[in-house]
Order: sequence, then C-alpha cells, then structure tokens
Amino acid sequence: MTPEAPATPEAAVAATHEWFERHSGWAPPDEGTLEEWRADDVCRCPDECLVEWDGCCEHGLASWSLVLSALD
Ligand SMILES: [Zn+2]
Repeated sequence: MTPEAPATPEAAVAATHEWFERHSGWAPPDEGTLEEWRADDVCRCPDECLVEWDGCCEHGLASWSLVLSALD
C-alpha cells in the first residue's frame, strides 16, 4: 500500500477529475474495450495504468470503470 493511495473510490474519482484538468490527450475507452476489460476483471486508468476492474493505480487515479460509473 502506498501513502498516495486514495482512501476511498470516491476520493480516487475526485483525484482523477483533477488529473483530467491538468492533462490532455486522454479519452474514455469505448464500450467494446470496457467489455473486454470487464471480462478479464481488469481496467485501465486514464494514465494507462492497468489495475483491477474497480481499482485505483499507484498514482491515485481511479479506473475508468469507477470514473464512468460515478457519472451515471
Ligand atoms: Zn497511474
């Protein structure tokens, strides 16, 4: 466990939205990609880190599945 790891998925999603404001060149995955990740129980973060489906990366970013489900 790293000191930078967010305490909750909500905190990770909030940190990810801050990251969006500071970075460009990211894009949400399309549905087919998300389905493939879901099938493998993995996901990517906006900075391309590979994590668990509902995980966060070592940089404190939430996976796309967390980010997108928080928007629903
Ligand atoms: Zn990362």
